[in-house]
Amino acid sequence: MAEAIKLTPMMKQYMEVKERCRDKILFFRLGDFYEMFFEDALTVSRELDLTLTGRAGGNKEKVPMCGVPFHSADTYIERLVQKGYKVAVCEQMEDPKAAKGIVKREIIKVITPGTITMEHAVAAKQNNYLACMTASAASVSFVLADVTTGECWWQVCDTDGWESIVGDMVSVYAPRELLLGSLTAAQKDGIRKILQQREGNCVLTEPDIRTDVDYEAVGTQYFTVEMMAAAKAASYCLGLLLSYVTEVMKCDISYFHTLEPLQQEQRLVLDAACLHHLEITRNVRDGGRKGTLLAVLDHTCTAMGGRLLRKWLETPLLSGTQIMRRQEGVAELVQHSVLRKDVTDILEKIYDFERILTRIETGTVSPKDYVALRESLGVLPTLKQALQQVTSPILRDLIAAVHTHDEVYDLLCRSIKEVPGQVIRNGGVIREGFSSELDEIRRIGANSKEFLQELEAKERERTGIKMKIGYTKVFGYYFEISHANTKPVPEYYIRKQTLVNAERYITPALKEFEVKVLTAQERMLALEYALYGEVRQRIQTHIHDMQETARALAQLDCLHSLAVAAQENRYIRPQLNGERQIRIVDGRHPIMEHYVKNALFVPNDVVLNHDTHEILIITGPNMAGKSTYMRQVAVLVLMTQIGSFIPAREASICPVDRIFTRIGATDDILTGQSTFMMEMEEVSHILQYATQNSLLILDEIGRGTSTFDGMSIARAVIEYCLKKVHALTLFATHYHELTDMSTMSKKIKNYTVAVKERGRDITFLRRIIPGGADRSYGLHVARLAGLPEGLLKRAEVILQELETAEHRPCQVSPSEKRDTVGAEGLFANPVLTRLLEVDINGLTPIEAISFLYALQKEAKEGSGVG
Ligand code: ADP
Ligand code: MG
Repeated sequence: MAEAIKLTPMMKQYMEVKERCRDKILFFRLGDFYEMFFEDALTVSRELDLTLTGRAGGNKEKVPMCGVPFHSADTYIERLVQKGYKVAVCEQMEDPKAAKGIVKREIIKVITPGTITMEHAVAAKQNNYLACMTASAASVSFVLADVTTGECWWQVCDTDGWESIVGDMVSVYAPRELLLGSLTAAQKDGIRKILQQREGNCVLTEPDIRTDVDYEAVGTQYFTVEMMAAAKAASYCLGLLLSYVTEVMKCDISYFHTLEPLQQEQRLVLDAACLHHLEITRNVRDGGRKGTLLAVLDHTCTAMGGRLLRKWLETPLLSGTQIMRRQEGVAELVQHSVLRKDVTDILEKIYDFERILTRIETGTVSPKDYVALRESLGVLPTLKQALQQVTSPILRDLIAAVHTHDEVYDLLCRSIKEVPGQVIRNGGVIREGFSSELDEIRRIGANSKEFLQELEAKERERTGIKMKIGYTKVFGYYFEISHANTKPVPEYYIRKQTLVNAERYITPALKEFEVKVLTAQERMLALEYALYGEVRQRIQTHIHDMQETARALAQLDCLHSLAVAAQENRYIRPQLNGERQIRIVDGRHPIMEHYVKNALFVPNDVVLNHDTHEILIITGPNMAGKSTYMRQVAVLVLMTQIGSFIPAREASICPVDRIFTRIGATDDILTGQSTFMMEMEEVSHILQYATQNSLLILDEIGRGTSTFDGMSIARAVIEYCLKKVHALTLFATHYHELTDMSTMSKKIKNYTVAVKERGRDITFLRRIIPGGADRSYGLHVARLAGLPEGLLKRAEVILQELETAEHRPCQVSPSEKRDTVGAEGLFANPVLTRLLEVDINGLTPIEAISFLYALQKEAKEGSGVG
């Protein structure tokens, strides 16, 4: 930066302000522009493609400068914040015309990715999260907030193992900004690493921590005693976050209204891996919405409903009573198509007034927002009317919670024009009849011409002198009388100016009019602004009530959305059972059935219970449909637990406490970082946290390593599930050798995917049937894939040779032997002896892995490989 000594006074002021917001881009108000200088100018011109100019700053060289017109600054700020920058806005605090010396300037607000409230900067049907993390010796706290809606969520976890929980939160909620509170250097590194591994762009901020603030008490200003009591362990973290928000936004945030735990006991816990694999809210391909369960179920009409539906999918219910309550609401809307249609029509007219309320509270509300709020409130009586006859308790409660807010509606009708001006600064917003004072001023403006004509006529008549009224910028209004017409003028005429051929006069009446007209415009704008603020203040007192209405509308919209989805896709209402079993007849995959267009999607049944069907081992060739089937079961259970209907003919489902998914390495294409190590970490995580009330989807475990390793681990995992976990488990594998495990326990059942074999060709029937596959069908699949016929013939010969070979120990199929280097040598080797001797049942999965590693190392050394 330039040497401070030679700076102009203005640049000196700039440097002082910039010193206070080094990590932000400073929008420095200069007349009709916001200017940026130095680094900021370079950054902004590059990022927003704006022209870089220079300004004399006191030194010989010009200072890099870049500017945007003040009235369109918001769009530039939005774009910068979206790119992850923080922006500080520095305003002129006095009228430059009136100021002596340099104009006083101050930072009036700061906009960061986590605190932005501008309408276009945040996705309508998605929350915009700001997160905060703090730690004490005993625990780590994590708080999420959405500044645009006034909601907060919290979570506390142990100091060890926080990485996986916080990592999950970061993946699931993708906060735009994360505040690092009191953390150790190691914890800060940890969180940086977590962020690097996940997609999305999250900005890290280290907020000032002040010693004179009792952060634990900050939350009590906004939330109820009960909410605060529940969140006690996270209250410091919450206080830090809220203090940051107030400081940055520089406004009252009393619109904050909700504080809930992120993971509740009464909720089905889904981790990031599960949401990812099942494509609940983001698809595996590009993280987008297309091809997700959300996209299938989302028929919400309002942004508020859209955001809530996503939340429902991320945190499904656990309690049968609560699920049933939602089901009843959905059922009623499914049955009454006229009612459903009415609700759609009405909800479509409702704007995102939850966020408008926030803009009212934070003082950034636009005239357009008021119109949107007015139109939204205007349809509420019709909505209440339409839903008058509903009988399900949930709909009755919701409709009771929707208030019509007549007072606010009436105020908006009276105060805001039908089509108001875009910005209050330019006026034209307040409706006629709302303020007699404003009407009067406007009349002066509108009637000034008439008034002048009348005045002129009156004076001519009174004096009998020919005169005309004129105006100049310097002298204002005057009566001009030419010398030819000069007669003595009345004494209230004051001479103003003498021209070559005329005299100019003013009169008290004309002067008074002049003052009125000239100040009218200014006064009109000031008065409109004041009235606008008054309207805002009056509405502010109703914000909490209106938030309640917004919440009720969001829920109604979600139920309505599920009803529309149910009706359009022929879903049925699943029964709930408390017998810890899952039974689905002719279930379909809700996402896949949309995409398998040319061929029909083949429905499938499932039975899971703890007596005879606790673990289902599903074998079958690649591409047969195993993964789809298992995900389908998980997705249907999840749908049931948000209260949705499901694609099936019949179903009885017991709510589960967690759904875990482990999807094999080769299927995990998105991240591309799915090493065998990661696979094993996931398995270990699942086995640690799964309970007997969980649902486990284990797909191709062990695929990420060699056949021997893989199959041993797969076996050991199944045994562990059987003996220790007792969860309902679906286990797909292409190791058809694992089917013999069903002899171990009556709880294990074999299933396979039906294939029709005709000579060398096979057709996948996509139907899951009892029984196990007796071979891999690898060559058949290769033929389907179009490998050259000559190659396939040769492969058949090799296969036959291998199958007639004598050694078939350890259930390793001949076809598998081919990918074990030096297999023949191995069998005569001490490695084999050790393998045969080990008691697999007595090994934990982790022990099994290390055993295998050792074994493999030995084998490689023995055979000279590696
Ligand atoms: P696997 O896991 O056995 O290798 P997938 O479950 O990945 O097989 O399924 C492979 C393909 O088969 C899917 O992409 C889909 O197109 C098709 N498929 C799977 N299940 C069905 C079904 N029930 N009905 C119709 N097509 C299906
Ligand atoms: Mg698969």
